[in-house]
Amino acid sequence: MAKRDIHTWDVERSSSLYRIDQWGSGYFNINRKGEVEVNLRNNNKSSAVSLLEISQGLQERGLKMPVLLRFSDILDDRIKFINETFRAAIKDVGYKGSYKGVYPIKVNQQQQVIEEICHFGKQYHHGLETGSKAELIAALAYLDDPEAYIVCNGYKDEEYIDLALKGLMLGIQTVLVIEMPQEAALIIERSKELGVRPIIGIRMKPSTIASGHWTDSGGERSAFGLNTTQIINAIDLLRNEGMLDCLQLLHYHLGSQIPNIHDIRVGATEAARFYVGLVKEGAKMGLLDIGGGLAIDYDGSSSNTSNSRNYTMAEYCIDVIEEVMNICNESDVEHPTIISESGRALVAYYSVLLLNVLDTNVFKTEAPLEISDELKPVLDNLLYVKKSLSEKTVQECLNDLNYYREEIRVKFLFGKVNMRERAAAEHLYWSIMADISALVHKLDFIPSDLKDLDKQLSDIYYGNFSLFQSLPDVWAIDQLFPIMPIHLLDQEPTRRAILSDITCDSEGKIDKFIGREEIDLTLPLHQLPEDEDYILGVFLVGAYQETLGDLHNLFGDTNVVSVTYDETGRYVLHNELDGDTVADVLSYVEYDPKTLETLIKTKAEVAVREGLISAQQRRKIISAYSAGLRGYTYYETDQED
Ligand code: PLP
Repeated sequence: MAKRDIHTWDVERSSSLYRIDQWGSGYFNINRKGEVEVNLRNNNKSSAVSLLEISQGLQERGLKMPVLLRFSDILDDRIKFINETFRAAIKDVGYKGSYKGVYPIKVNQQQQVIEEICHFGKQYHHGLETGSKAELIAALAYLDDPEAYIVCNGYKDEEYIDLALKGLMLGIQTVLVIEMPQEAALIIERSKELGVRPIIGIRMKPSTIASGHWTDSGGERSAFGLNTTQIINAIDLLRNEGMLDCLQLLHYHLGSQIPNIHDIRVGATEAARFYVGLVKEGAKMGLLDIGGGLAIDYDGSSSNTSNSRNYTMAEYCIDVIEEVMNICNESDVEHPTIISESGRALVAYYSVLLLNVLDTNVFKTEAPLEISDELKPVLDNLLYVKKSLSEKTVQECLNDLNYYREEIRVKFLFGKVNMRERAAAEHLYWSIMADISALVHKLDFIPSDLKDLDKQLSDIYYGNFSLFQSLPDVWAIDQLFPIMPIHLLDQEPTRRAILSDITCDSEGKIDKFIGREEIDLTLPLHQLPEDEDYILGVFLVGAYQETLGDLHNLFGDTNVVSVTYDETGRYVLHNELDGDTVADVLSYVEYDPKTLETLIKTKAEVAVREGLISAQQRRKIISAYSAGLRGYTYYETDQED
């Protein structure tokens, strides 16, 4: 086990190193034992549960890593939080309307999530937002509250529209939002055909373009919504059909994870002006849907950067409500019910991915090189660099070092340096790099070339997960998620590493982490303990990750389990879902597991006939193949079933 140094390290230092108090939002912290614990609250009671204890309990039950933990109590708390904060803002500023949220199913579509949102959200009449027929079909079945809304966004064909209208017939307040100009006529036609008066919304194209990663939904070139002329055309059409009373909602969406409150305010102002305009045109209105965009502080920096946000939930609610109220008051328009489509802000904290580290590739400076006389001519220049190294010459020495290494590589290509000489040169190169790195840490100003030196000298920790399956946004858009060990946090993490997954793709790595001031290129980690698994948690992964993941290298869905706690404060596991088996993922890509087994049986039979294996060996090979098909797609350390 790594050596303990309890005098120089404590859990407070780990808290500050990993910034858990900043991004944890009160849901996660480190306990006295140096383990990350999750704080679950339920009906004014709360309990702190150690993630290590949960992971040990899972392993005892045979549920293998990687595993996704879901915390229903956190979801419940987030729904309460957004609804109560809007209510408080409404009261504070004297707003006359109310707030009703709708959860966008696409953010995490899992059945369990939708069921829990409908259940926890009922007291607030929290509804659902759908973007497709499939999502609407799920929403119609699960939402059981005549006062909640289903807001139907996305492209709509006749079937989608009919389903929404049938929802209305069942007493569910289903709003059909016109996203494309031609949808207006189709909604009118279908509602006449079915004899239902629809609730219609219009999605406007805001000219406001928010900053951040996911903000293509804003601006006049955004794919969805109607521009001002198209809105006027839709109003005229509805008026001609005697259906202006059906137009009740205005919707806009600036994009997801909007870091700057300024953009949110400007967007709300623009939308409120359109809302007032629609009322003046004679539409019934009553509902203003401000879309999603409420951001999560993934890196705990509370800043206007893409992984954070420079506002609190309270500020968000007050700013939106105030803007809408002021503009409605100016024009003597009744305050609308505010609907928001916050997804990320509800579900991000809900899930944590736990993974075990399988192995490491540790950077270490080898013992000093013995330089024999034959090696001297080859190593001469590198030795000179080593001799000239000082705080003043560090950049120059790095440049020279790289130049001379390249020279040796070229000489090797032309046969002028042999393999043993090249090995000695590389050995010397890395030992000088380590000296440079030690000097760089003493500098007040670090030149940009030297900034990623730590990364070059860092270890590689191999985690039992697939980046593409479990954290697709890390790969696709460089999103940062908080990552840290869930135990040993009373000990100093003495290594710096990047994290590699087990796909054989060079992109399957994480080399950007939450830093104390900015992004760090390495993650502080402990030396692997000898007598227990080293387990990392990837936090705040409840939004978008589960459903965007793909089957790269045929790594499938991970095991999933929900965690709550009982009256004694002990954790309780439910809704255990086995991850994909190898047979599952193969069948997703059109293999038939039965055919595969038949093919291998035939092959093994031929091998018996040709005398390559015995009949007994055939039996063992076939049973190993079948067990492989039934097995987990991730690295399994325990072969017992
Ligand atoms: N509404 C619409 C129309 C969206 O496209 C999205 C996602 O981008 C959302 C709501 C959810 O946004 P967020 O997760 O930022 O709350």
